[in-house]
Amino acid sequence: MPTRSSDVLVIGGGVNGLACAARLAAAGCKVVLLETTGKVGGGAGEREFAPGFRAPALAHLTQGLDSRMVDGMGLARHGLVFHPPLATTVVSATGDHLVVRGGQTTGPDAAAWAALQAKLSAFARVLAPFRQMPPPRLSGQNRWPGLARQALGIRTLGRANLRELLRMILINVHDVAEDELTDDRLKGLLAFDATLGAWLGPRSPNSLILYLDRLARGEGSLLPKGGMAALAAALGRAAESAGVRVRTTAAVQQVLVEGGRAVGVLLADGEEIRSGLVVSAIHPRTTFHGLVGAAALDAGFYRATGHIRSRGGAAKLHLALRDAPDFRGADLRSRLVIAPSSEVVEAAFNPVKYGEVPDSPVLEAILPSAHEPGQAPEGAHVLSAIVQYAPHAPRAGLSAARAALLEAALGVLEAHAPGLRGLVSHADLLMPQDIEARFGMVGGNWHHGELAVEQMLFNRPQFGAAHYSTPVDGLWLAGAGSHPGGGINGAAGWNAAGALLEARA
Ligand SMILES: Cc1cc2nc3c(=O)[nH]c(=O)nc-3n(C[C@H](O)[C@H](O)[C@H](O)COP(=O)(O)OP(=O)(O)OC[C@H]3O[C@@H](n4cnc5c(N)ncnc54)[C@H](O)[C@@H]3O)c2cc1C
Repeated sequence: MPTRSSDVLVIGGGVNGLACAARLAAAGCKVVLLETTGKVGGGAGEREFAPGFRAPALAHLTQGLDSRMVDGMGLARHGLVFHPPLATTVVSATGDHLVVRGGQTTGPDAAAWAALQAKLSAFARVLAPFRQMPPPRLSGQNRWPGLARQALGIRTLGRANLRELLRMILINVHDVAEDELTDDRLKGLLAFDATLGAWLGPRSPNSLILYLDRLARGEGSLLPKGGMAALAAALGRAAESAGVRVRTTAAVQQVLVEGGRAVGVLLADGEEIRSGLVVSAIHPRTTFHGLVGAAALDAGFYRATGHIRSRGGAAKLHLALRDAPDFRGADLRSRLVIAPSSEVVEAAFNPVKYGEVPDSPVLEAILPSAHEPGQAPEGAHVLSAIVQYAPHAPRAGLSAARAALLEAALGVLEAHAPGLRGLVSHADLLMPQDIEARFGMVGGNWHHGELAVEQMLFNRPQFGAAHYSTPVDGLWLAGAGSHPGGGINGAAGWNAAGALLEARA
């Protein structure tokens, strides 16, 4: 028996689904959010991966939550508090570490790093507002006042800086590192941060723009007090208090389309829910191919959905450690980055193009247990690492590749923290295929579709669905696959709600 319980059904309880649902509910819509797992948060969850050891599900740090979402949902009121921003330690195998806090560091390149960061941050500041508005349209219907304001913002850079932005914006980050820096540790960090979560290497064309996008999100690396679970809980509480009805263990199997219009969803358990609008905050390919189906879509559009590139190159490693590791004296409360040079980052990317595992992966690690009691038993520790790169389609098969990457990652960690291997009581490595199976991120891709120049703005996720509306009347997109992409950020979901409300006005 179909039920009509809402104006809007939102599919997916990740940060974007929650942001979108909360904004719609706050504007007076009756919203039901459907999440397939037992709790909200998506990539921002937490789980016990070994008895007594808790680790972030995927994301272990935020790199700039959308400020409109933070304020609009009142996340502070709902318990979200952050630890002070984490410094980054570029960990050296000889103990010659370098500590970096935003634009500040020490060593021979201290001034060059500060100058480079100031320049790139200025570029990022003028690009940042574009993250908070729908992509420009190629024809008609642009919100010209908004666009014109942003264009004026770019002009405030001044002629010389504007020329420099235009020279650099499509350049690769390796060349920038070579041009501006001499210290391999900083070159490695720049290359690593630009390519984190992307399916490209530092020498790939357009890799600098991802670094600008990272800077445009602002704030640096933040760890919520209480861990990522506390962030997910605050998002859930805030959405509910805005009026969203959150239903977990509600897997959407189909978007119901009648006469070219989305009229509700069918759940995996057979329940049919009717609604005025459906918003999908899950991967666009899953939305169109899995939930809508070819019969309701134009053949060209359906084919283009299949061409959305969604290769994931990041693996997630969790280690249960009997004792604190010693990274040759590095501060265990910092963000530890092992990326000795830009060349090493590139060399770690090359094999995954051919489905192979790199011998020396690069990685970002944090020890949540160094910040929070209760993440591990007394005296023990949890290490959470993002390991790059991992082949999304391993030639040797998934389990052989998983074993090889685990071995390679442990080798790298041991070289930087002698004795670490002997502390490991349990290791858990999620390859891109595991991430797809567990979180529904197609290809295991961080952004629900690669964030690359050709899949940005009006091409994100694909032409015809780039403004959150879709060719199916009443069906909208709101997940990381839409502009401006993913990360624990919420801009895509917040923007989608804004576009939807504007269309209804
Ligand atoms: C290895 C790895 C490490 C990462 N680390 C970081 C990090 O440190 N910092 C950071 O900012 N970002 C990180 N990310 C990226 C981040 O996790 C994602 O970009 C972010 O989670 C996207 O948010 P979302 O709300 O769009 O989608 P998701 O978080 O994927 O949420 C989608 C939700 O929809 C649900 N769902 C799926 N299908 C259905 C269905 N049919 N019916 C109902 N519900 C459904 C899922 O269960 C999920 O809860 C990482 C990603 C990866 C792969």
